[in-house]
Amino acid sequence: MTPPDLTLLPERLSRLSELAHDLSWTWNAGREVFRRLDYLRWKQSAHNPVLMLRQMDVAVLERAANDPDFLAAYDRALLTMDAWRAPANGHARTYWQTKVGAPVERPGGAPDRIVAYFSAEFALHQSLPIYAGGLGVLAGDHCKEASDLGIPFVGVGFMYPQGYFRQRVSADGWQQEVYERLNWADAPIAKAQTHDRKPCVVAVPLGIRTVLVQVWEVRLGRVRLLLLDTDLEQNQPWDRELSARLYSGGQDMRLQQEVVLGLGGVLALRALGLTPAVWHLNEGHAAFVVLQRLRDALANGATWETALVEVRRTTVFTTHTPVPAGHDAFPFNLVEQQLANCWGSMGEERDHFLALGTYDNGAGPQFNMTALAMRSAGAINAVSQLHGDVTREMFAPLWPDLAPGDRPVGAITNGVHVPTWVAGDLGKLFDRHMGAQWRDRYDEPAFWTAVFDIPDEELWAVRRSLRESLFEFVRERARVRFAEENAGTARVVAGGAMLDPHALTIGFARRFTAYKRPDLIFRHPARLAQLINNQKHPMQLVFAGKAHPADDGGKHHLQNIFRQALDPAFGGRVAFVDDYDLHVAHLLVQGCDVWLNNPRKPLEASGTSGMKAAMNGVPHLSIGDGWWAEGYTGDNGWRIDGGLTDADHAAVDDADADALYRLLETEVVPRFYERSTKGVPTRWMATVKHSIATVTPRFCTRRMVKDYIERAYAPSFRK
Ligand SMILES: *Cc1c(COP(=O)(O)O)cnc(C)c1O
Repeated sequence: MTPPDLTLLPERLSRLSELAHDLSWTWNAGREVFRRLDYLRWKQSAHNPVLMLRQMDVAVLERAANDPDFLAAYDRALLTMDAWRAPANGHARTYWQTKVGAPVERPGGAPDRIVAYFSAEFALHQSLPIYAGGLGVLAGDHCKEASDLGIPFVGVGFMYPQGYFRQRVSADGWQQEVYERLNWADAPIAKAQTHDRKPCVVAVPLGIRTVLVQVWEVRLGRVRLLLLDTDLEQNQPWDRELSARLYSGGQDMRLQQEVVLGLGGVLALRALGLTPAVWHLNEGHAAFVVLQRLRDALANGATWETALVEVRRTTVFTTHTPVPAGHDAFPFNLVEQQLANCWGSMGEERDHFLALGTYDNGAGPQFNMTALAMRSAGAINAVSQLHGDVTREMFAPLWPDLAPGDRPVGAITNGVHVPTWVAGDLGKLFDRHMGAQWRDRYDEPAFWTAVFDIPDEELWAVRRSLRESLFEFVRERARVRFAEENAGTARVVAGGAMLDPHALTIGFARRFTAYKRPDLIFRHPARLAQLINNQKHPMQLVFAGKAHPADDGGKHHLQNIFRQALDPAFGGRVAFVDDYDLHVAHLLVQGCDVWLNNPRKPLEASGTSGMKAAMNGVPHLSIGDGWWAEGYTGDNGWRIDGGLTDADHAAVDDADADALYRLLETEVVPRFYERSTKGVPTRWMATVKHSIATVTPRFCTRRMVKDYIERAYAPSFRK
């Protein structure tokens, strides 16, 4: 199909393409525009308006241009977008302006100082597949909230043309990774331009050569993202592949990517005339930012000591995992090799720099990216209160003289972006009963008592319709795999074709890896089968998630789930939905009845999918790990607690599985099926309401980013 020339958009809709290229449509009035424009194409494109517009029928566009209802939605969306982009004059002041002050603008409109936020992945929308999982979702939600709060903010990451991977599962349940090249024209990105309107390209020293990096840009309301890409003709073929995929290749590839992200990111910001007052490193992947900044300071005549003091004053570091292998560490010879061209300007400071990253995590001293970040950041935080305790313990050798409570690691518990994750229909229900002001006040805990005044029937009706949307999607995906990929019966059955749209549905979706124990619920198959096959009160399980391509252990867990789904003992009521991404995540966290999370404590730093579910009235059934250790109140969900922590894995798993079954048998199932004369599960709705009212205000990115502003960003701006 030849794409229509977008310059041929009807005059009245001439800014439709601009709207599609600003991803803030994903959480504001723009969404309604694209839904209305052509609902079928909207669904077929997995909600990608850029792709949709390229395939649009001109007649449909003409019709829309003459439809008053459509035009009203279109004008409303443009107004929102323009108001956001305009300087504050005449508009309501943003949170940032009130708390920190209005950014001073430079000629050309850029703020004089920014927060630069570095992350190896960003999950903004399924049409931009540059994320693998939780870390990316957190980064994406952080950027969206930065836009809402009006922070002068720029994200820096990678444009991976082949993304992470698309997941398929073979007929015997083994994960297949499919790499598709992104069609750039279908993604909401553009080449970043320097002040003289040239494409922004920077040269990064890597090994004994120089690699050119193209800078792309994504608009996201008030903020933007810069994405680095090495696929330039001038580069060697192997260097062009450097940014092709996320988290693939061996250690050497990973190290080279991290050099490009750290050094290239700093150079890109400078080339675009942006001056960070705060450098926020999201996880250790970006810690080489520190190296480039030290090089710059030394080149400008600073001493090592003054350079490091300045870097520390302005660097913020967030650490994300209590799993030791989750922290990148490289052998020194690799680091020496890849940084060969960097040392030139560093002279004898090189040894000082290597010392910043030197750390022994049990496998002998290595160059550890987390250690580098921790030794060069002035503000360090973990992502839940419990994770704070674990991190202070885990990295104790960095501060040999300090008692645990004095080690400089704080905790800012994660959150999720409410307008992104709360279902549209639920939001409209809140509008009707709490007023549209809920959209500005959702981080106020007291405000949410109003949820208890919503009639149970109405909330239950929304919950049921969200469950129906999930089942419609699951069936359609199984049908498409059957029709288009010739999937055999095994894949169709395991894909959920026999699920019961009325049964209590337990969701479990996250990365497949051992510590998350995806198969814990199958520990006693007979006991589980009794729950699932109960004639009057059936239960069913829906799983989704990817295993890292190199994690065979994770793939075995996935295969086990797939085999369980095919076991007739579970009657077709266990399903595995393939290719988990943001789109599938939305449907699952909104459409299930209960969200299950059973990691081996304390290995889940925070977890965020449970927050998304809980705010949609899908109560959390979870080990008291990560955010749930502080989120559980006694009546907003359930805490699985087998009572064992120090015993061996098998004993802990047995105890936790037993506790899980007991909760399902005695609490969850009876409560769900106890119905009033009107058919409403009254006691269940009480749990649903507590879940919404307690989780939304405390575990939203609004609360989280305000914490970052107060504790990590504002101090540097106020100086
Ligand atoms: C929210 C989300 C995650 C993170 O979920 P956890 O519960 O933190 O494991 C991963 N992947 C996708 C697609 C998500 O939306």
